[in-house]
Amino acid sequence: MAASDKEWTINDAEKLYGVSRWGGGYFQIGDNGNLHITPHADHPDLRIDFNDVLTEIRQAGVQFPVVVRFHDILRAQVVRLNTAFADAISTCGYQGQYRGVYPIKVNQMREVVEEIVNAGNPFQYGLEAGSKAELLAALAMNTNPDSLTVLNGYKDEEFMRLALLGGKLGNRVLVVVEKYSELLLLVKIAKELNIDPMIGVRAKITAVGRGKWESSGGERAKFGLTIAEIINTARYLQEQGMSHCLNLLHFHIGSQLTDIRSVKEAITEGAMIYAELHKMGFPLDYVDVGGGLGIDYDGSASTNDSSRNYSMQEYVANVVQGMKEVCELEQVPHPHLVSESGRAITAHHSCVVTQVVGEIRTNISGTRGVDTGVVDGEHIIVSNMRDIAGEVADSSNKQRIYNDASRYKEQAMDAFKLRVLSLEELARTETLYWQIMAQLQEYYAAADYVPEELQEMELNLASQYLCNFSIFQSAADTWAIDQLLPVVPLTRMNEKPQVKCSLADITCDSDGKIDQFPVAREITNLLPLHKLRADEPYFIGLFLTGAYQDVMGDMHNLFGRLNEVHIVSDADDPQKFYIEEVVKGSAVNDVLDIMQYNPEAMASDVKRMIDKQVACGNIKPREGVGWTDFYEACINGYTYLKTS
Ligand SMILES: *Cc1c(COP(=O)(O)O)cnc(C)c1O
Repeated sequence: MAASDKEWTINDAEKLYGVSRWGGGYFQIGDNGNLHITPHADHPDLRIDFNDVLTEIRQAGVQFPVVVRFHDILRAQVVRLNTAFADAISTCGYQGQYRGVYPIKVNQMREVVEEIVNAGNPFQYGLEAGSKAELLAALAMNTNPDSLTVLNGYKDEEFMRLALLGGKLGNRVLVVVEKYSELLLLVKIAKELNIDPMIGVRAKITAVGRGKWESSGGERAKFGLTIAEIINTARYLQEQGMSHCLNLLHFHIGSQLTDIRSVKEAITEGAMIYAELHKMGFPLDYVDVGGGLGIDYDGSASTNDSSRNYSMQEYVANVVQGMKEVCELEQVPHPHLVSESGRAITAHHSCVVTQVVGEIRTNISGTRGVDTGVVDGEHIIVSNMRDIAGEVADSSNKQRIYNDASRYKEQAMDAFKLRVLSLEELARTETLYWQIMAQLQEYYAAADYVPEELQEMELNLASQYLCNFSIFQSAADTWAIDQLLPVVPLTRMNEKPQVKCSLADITCDSDGKIDQFPVAREITNLLPLHKLRADEPYFIGLFLTGAYQDVMGDMHNLFGRLNEVHIVSDADDPQKFYIEEVVKGSAVNDVLDIMQYNPEAMASDVKRMIDKQVACGNIKPREGVGWTDFYEACINGYTYLKTS
């Protein structure tokens, strides 16, 4: 062990990977260098070692990559949000109540929604749906008569009828009008069915969220009514004798709001609209402030796109306080408060575990070089390159080494094209060049600081770790909108990482890579990881994937959904957890089926071809049976690489 290894502690790993900065209190680096999970804030001693989880996954015969869901974290986030509102309401002396809803689109998995509904039951925490399919799910799952079901998104007649069915079932279903024509449709159907609907209006707010989703708000927003349309809505309902049906004012200025100022501005504006409507004789019961409560993906607590400059408590305090101030100024009652935080509820609870299955090296020693010994009468460019190679170790000016070597390499190529340098001499020059680069890379991988001029060299020379997963399935936003996700090794964090690399997935798409990481309070292109060992699998985790990433994946390269394990903590268990459920990911036949293939017919076609070869004597009968079984096993198997 080198001296620098001895000095490396888990505190250094914490500084590097920032686990406690983005972990929401749920993740820590353990003394043994493994990632630990502490699902209960009030039981810090209840620690689950991620390595034990990996062992148990393997023992259960579940193949990687795997989505690991921590159901306790999901429950804890529901409690955190509802408690934060309850605390702020009592501290401020706010007169209304909090009736939050979970927007299903953020993670529609039945087990996720079920757990949220169950944990939210004591708080009358409800659901939000934005499509017919989500509404069908919400109607079946939201059985608490005191919790709300809020319906956003564009609606057709069937959607409206379903909403009114919800009312018949005794649920508080709020139909939020997104455009004026929906109002006419809703009133028509309600009259036909003789039901009083609960109606909300979505306002276009001029305050816009800053960050990637700022177009969700503002006057050009896709959804919502202008102030004039809201007034017309209220008047129309009055004419129809239905003004008592107008129950809720809704606005949503975007997801992942990075700056608390945009929250404040939106609340003030929304509260003003509520107050004016009240004074016009429309006493709404609820104000719904939408989603947007951000997640600190990069751990910087800043206004970076991947962060936010406030805590959940501050967000909640601003909502409650902001509403109260306007109501008091305008002398109107405090409405009940609804929020639709999705990201904040689900992001932490799941992660993707993938095994690093290889290293893609940039030419260095990955390609076998030629003999570089001195040859009589060799070209001066070859000798020059050899001299540089001899100087790397002792040189204090590594920049010069890099520049000279790069220059000679270019000269060698030019000389080759002019037929001055032979093919063999070119090969010797290049071999020497890559030996120099390998030495430089080794040197800087261990260095704490890389001069800015050399960062490009570092990037060009860095390895890629090949990971058994698909970005398009498991982290779609990293590809689509440069979403940053924390990525950390699950073990060995008590060892100094010796490799800086980016990650490549197993799709055949050159976009299938991750090269943006939050590292040591900065956003870098390379992630420090450990050298791979032949006898020990190396697993890394992509964290905070529970919101959107979990469910937005596509079928690129027909990889399909991942195997999932659902982890529940248990203080009495020696490992402090058990696997409550394994949900099988896509089998090859599932994904083929979606693309209109008939896997059974495929298997019998291939069997027929094998039989034909057996009949001709090209394949032995026993071997033929073996091939037939093998094809069938593969078609029923997992889509990802089989590792161990
Ligand atoms: C997407 C969406 C949400 C959820 O937003 P988060 O930022 O994930 O909390 C809430 N409300 C509406 C209307 C949405 O479209």
